[in-house]
Amino acid sequence: MCGIVGYLGSRKALPIIIKGLKRLEYRGYDSAGVAVLNGSLEIVKKKGKVSDLESAIGEKKLDASVGIGHTRWATHGEPNDRNAHPHLSSDGKLAIIHNGIIENYSAIKKELEKSGHSFKSDTDTEVLIHLIEEIKIQNKCNIEEAVRLALNEVVGAYAIVVLSEDDERTLIAARKGSPLVIGIGKDEYFVASDATPIIEYTSEVTYLNDREMAIMKDGSLTVKSLENVIKTPFIQKLELDLEDIEKGGYPHFMLKEIFEQPKSVRDAMRGRLVSASHSLVLSGIDQYLHRFTNAERMLFIGCGTSWHAGLIGEYLFEDLARIPTEVEYASEFRYRNPVIRDKDIVIAISQSGETADTLAAIELAKSKGAMIFGVCNVVGSSIARTADAGAYLHAGPEIGVASTKAFTSQVTILAMMAIYLGLKKGTISKSKYQELLFGLDTIPDKVATILGKAEEILEISKRFYQASNFLYLGRGYNFPVALEGALKLKEISYIHAEGYPAAEMKHGPIALIDEDMPVVFIATKDSSYEKIISNIQEVKARKGKVIAIVTEGDTEIKKMADFTFEIPSIADPLVPLLAVIPLQLLSYHIAILRGCNVDQPRNLAKSVTVE
Ligand code: GLU
Repeated sequence: MCGIVGYLGSRKALPIIIKGLKRLEYRGYDSAGVAVLNGSLEIVKKKGKVSDLESAIGEKKLDASVGIGHTRWATHGEPNDRNAHPHLSSDGKLAIIHNGIIENYSAIKKELEKSGHSFKSDTDTEVLIHLIEEIKIQNKCNIEEAVRLALNEVVGAYAIVVLSEDDERTLIAARKGSPLVIGIGKDEYFVASDATPIIEYTSEVTYLNDREMAIMKDGSLTVKSLENVIKTPFIQKLELDLEDIEKGGYPHFMLKEIFEQPKSVRDAMRGRLVSASHSLVLSGIDQYLHRFTNAERMLFIGCGTSWHAGLIGEYLFEDLARIPTEVEYASEFRYRNPVIRDKDIVIAISQSGETADTLAAIELAKSKGAMIFGVCNVVGSSIARTADAGAYLHAGPEIGVASTKAFTSQVTILAMMAIYLGLKKGTISKSKYQELLFGLDTIPDKVATILGKAEEILEISKRFYQASNFLYLGRGYNFPVALEGALKLKEISYIHAEGYPAAEMKHGPIALIDEDMPVVFIATKDSSYEKIISNIQEVKARKGKVIAIVTEGDTEIKKMADFTFEIPSIADPLVPLLAVIPLQLLSYHIAILRGCNVDQPRNLAKSVTVE
C-alpha cells in the first residue's frame, strides 16, 4: 500500500520521481506528492492520481537533483491535499514520505503537542517527522541519528524516506514491515517500494531488512541497524525486464495479465514438471520431505484471492495427499490464539510476499514451532525470506490490482505439491500421478484455447453488465472458483456478488433469486455433475438467469442454461485452473462496460502492507 520513490544523483529528480510514482500507482492512488531539495524544500501534493499531481505541478520548475515522491493509500485521515505526503516538520526543514502505520502515533502526538508542536494533517506520518525534529533538537544530534532514535520509539510498520534542508545531498531511508529497495547507479541512488521505478536506470539493488536504515550521500551508501550496527549491504542483480512492467499493447494490465496465463502457468511448472518423463522435481519440498510426509496438518494462510487459492489447496491436499488441512484468513488466525503444533506445516500464500497480516500470522506460527513454506511471486519479499522453504510463482510482476495470473500460478504450485506428496505418501497410484502430470502439462494450451474464445464472454457480459447482483455457485473443487469469480466481479465492477457452495444455496441465497438475478454456475463434468444439474433446475424454476461454465461437448446443461461457455475437459483436481479464466474475463468485460477503472479499482490497492 502506497508507493514511495526517492532520488539522489546528478539527473533531474522530478521526472524520475513522477515516472516512478506512475509505476507504483498500483499500490495506492488516492493522493500523491513530491518534495525536491535545491537549497530549500519545495513541495507539491494533490488529492487524486499521479496525473492530477502532474497538473498541479504544471509549469513549476522544481529543478533539483534530489527529491522524494509518494502515492498514497490512506490509512489515517481522508484522502485530500492536506493529508497527502510528503509531510513536513514544524520548521519546514524536514520532509518525510511513509508507507505503513505508526500505531502509537496518538500517544506520541500528545507528548509533542505538550512541547508546542502543532499538526497540519490527520496522518500518523506527520507525527513521525515531528518526533524526528524534536529528538534532533533535544539530543543536538544529526539527522540520521535523530531518525534512528525516533524509529526506536515507534510501534508499527513503515518504509520511510527523509529529506533534510540542512543536509542537502543526503537521503535517509528505513524500513520495518513495509518493503524498500535501493538502486545503486553510478554516483546516484534510487529508493522505491519495489524495483519498477529503478529498472531502467540500474540493475544493481539492495533490499533493506526490517529495522535497517540506509544513509545515502553523494558517493556513499551506509546501511545500519536501528541498534546502530553497521551492515554490509547485499547487492544483487535485478531480474526484471522493462517490458514486464509495461502494458505491451493491451489497454489494461489486468487484460494483459489474463492473457499471459498460458505463459505464467508454464513458468510456474518450469524446472519442476519434467514433461518428457512426466515427473516432478520439487526441491523446496525435498529439502523437508520427512516433515511433509509426516505432517499432522497443513494450514494454508492467506488473504483475498490467495485465500481462495488456499481453499483449492485444501481440496488438493486432502484428496490427493490425505493430509488434514485447514485454510485460514491470516487476519483472523493471528489474533485468535490458534492451536499450532510443531508437526503442522503452514503454507503462506501471498503474491507480493509483503501482506502484513500473512507475515504476522507466519511469524506467530513459526514461534510455536510450525514449519513455514512460502508461496510468493515477488523474489526476495519479506514472506519469502521469513519462510523455511518455499516455491516462487515466477509469474512476472502482477500490476493489475485484481489478481489473475498470480492466482492460477498459486494453484499450479499447490497442485504440483499435492500430486508430489500423494506419490511420496502412496496415497495416489503411479498411474494417477502420471495422469495428473499429463493433465498439468496440457493446462497452458487449454488456457490459450479458452482465451481464444474471449469474444463469447464479451457477448455474455453485454447482456448482464447492468445487473446489481450476481450469484456464483460451484461444488467441490469449483466452490473456491465460485468465490474467486464473485470476488473479481466485486473488486472491479462494484457489482454485489456472492460465491456459495451450490448446495448451500437452498439454505439462504435462494431467497434472492428472481428474473433479475444472474447466477453463474461452474458446472463442469465432475463427480458432482448430476447434483449441480439439480441446483441449476432450482434456479431456473425461480426464473433466475443461468450462465454456466461447462465441459466441452456438454449437451444437457446447454438445454437448461441461458448462456453456456465451454472449457476443455481435464481431471477434477485441475479444473479450477481452467474454470477461473472465463470468470476473470467476465469481470473484466463487465467492469469495462460499466466504465470502471479495472487496473485501479476504488478503495483498493495491490500489496496490502497494513493490517
Ligand atoms: N499511514 C499513512 C497515511 O495514512 C501511510 C499510508 C500508506 O501506507 O499508504 O498517510
